[in-house]
Amino acid sequence: MEKIYWNKEIETMEHEDMKKLQSERLVKQVRHVWDNVPYYRRLMEEKGVTPDDIKGIEDLHKLPFLSKADLREGYPYGLLAVPLSECVRIQSTSGTTGKRVVAFYTQHDIDLWEDCCARAITAAGGTNEDVCQVCYGYGLFTGGPGLNGGSHKVGCLTLPMSSGNTERQIQFMMDLKSTILCCTPSYAAYIGETLHEMGYTPDDIHLKAGIFGAEPWTEEMRQEIERLLGIKAYDIYGLTETSGPGVAFECEAQTGMHINEDNFIAEIIDPDTGEVLPEGSKGELVFTSITKEAFPLLRYRTRDICVLTREKCSCGRTLVKMTKPMGRSDDMLIIKGVNVFPSQIETVLLKDFNATPNYQIVVDRAGNVDTFEIKVEISDEMFDDTIKSVEQLEKKLSADIVQILGIRAKISLVEPKSIPRSEGKAVRVIDRRKLV
Ligand code: ADP
Ligand code: ZN
Repeated sequence: MEKIYWNKEIETMEHEDMKKLQSERLVKQVRHVWDNVPYYRRLMEEKGVTPDDIKGIEDLHKLPFLSKADLREGYPYGLLAVPLSECVRIQSTSGTTGKRVVAFYTQHDIDLWEDCCARAITAAGGTNEDVCQVCYGYGLFTGGPGLNGGSHKVGCLTLPMSSGNTERQIQFMMDLKSTILCCTPSYAAYIGETLHEMGYTPDDIHLKAGIFGAEPWTEEMRQEIERLLGIKAYDIYGLTETSGPGVAFECEAQTGMHINEDNFIAEIIDPDTGEVLPEGSKGELVFTSITKEAFPLLRYRTRDICVLTREKCSCGRTLVKMTKPMGRSDDMLIIKGVNVFPSQIETVLLKDFNATPNYQIVVDRAGNVDTFEIKVEISDEMFDDTIKSVEQLEKKLSADIVQILGIRAKISLVEPKSIPRSEGKAVRVIDRRKLV
């Protein structure tokens, strides 16, 4: 079967040609930023760099980094590179790390962003024959508007549902024969769970694929969602600072996300030293936007930890792939001095449980000692099981957590439905420690 791409020329371009394209665009972009963003120009001057020093991507490392702190300092217009009269949209971060950031778009920027989302939908098998149900939140959050725009470009019949009202989502999904679902993975799991509770099976719906992102999720969670909904579940990655979802997207291989390198140059750095690491190393992902007009961030530190790989992909795309983010360098919990990423815990839970992934990590401090509790919801069937089998499960989880993390957690198996469900990004961690 012939493979389908949204933009074949770009998605299958020889790496050398892509490097050339990136270099040309970078040189122009650096000039644009230097001329129009005094904030970044000052950072460049402090580092003793001028646009003349940037002749191609080999010079990228000379440029200063930007971080969320810069965006907060420059809030709201400090990093804007065009007159406001040329902007047509503002979006804002969901505030995972508690601080909001606003991003600006010209019509050209919106077009590029939607184009990236169209590539993701096409890679998931979407065509103009599909009915695409978008239940990411609409509004300031980039999820809804991004996938909505991509879906229009592909020509899918688009259902702009936004999140919430799960039974109605399922009703529409059946009545209007949705074939593609776009939402956060935690909401997809919740929709799947609700579908089964309503007495249906995947045979009662028409979904074939889902495009899930905006929060970390594991391979085990992918399998769970695929089983619950009877679909192929694809990952999509992005952040408001770089436009939104669609910076990277998964293909049929389901082994990491292709980065849209014609728009974003990706680097991996050591988060402590800022040193650029060779491809294949694990480190912090840094993006340089080379096509955006209004909000062109250069060397933006995402805080997301991952690995880049350029191995040949079975889908035929030549775009570099990023692994699923393994957590954020600022999301990492330090419990009893040990670095803990919520995704490590999720992997253990889903392996031992082989069931609904509803859990919460609660960290607190008693005296000077951290307390670490993992609340895991058991299923209705398990609820009816003997106390002995529940105790055995608790023991097994406890042992597996010690093995992975090297520290002990209190495992609390809680009643079905007692952990709040999420319609957007799930709240997996409650950190009650007041560390001054
Ligand atoms: P905030 O930083 O406030 O959450 P965004 O709503 O723009 O801002 O979210 C961007 C962040 O969401 C990314 O930096 C990343 O940590 C996370 N994210 C987005 N997509 C994925 C994904 N597919 N897998 C894991 N994490 C993701
Ligand atoms: Zn691929």
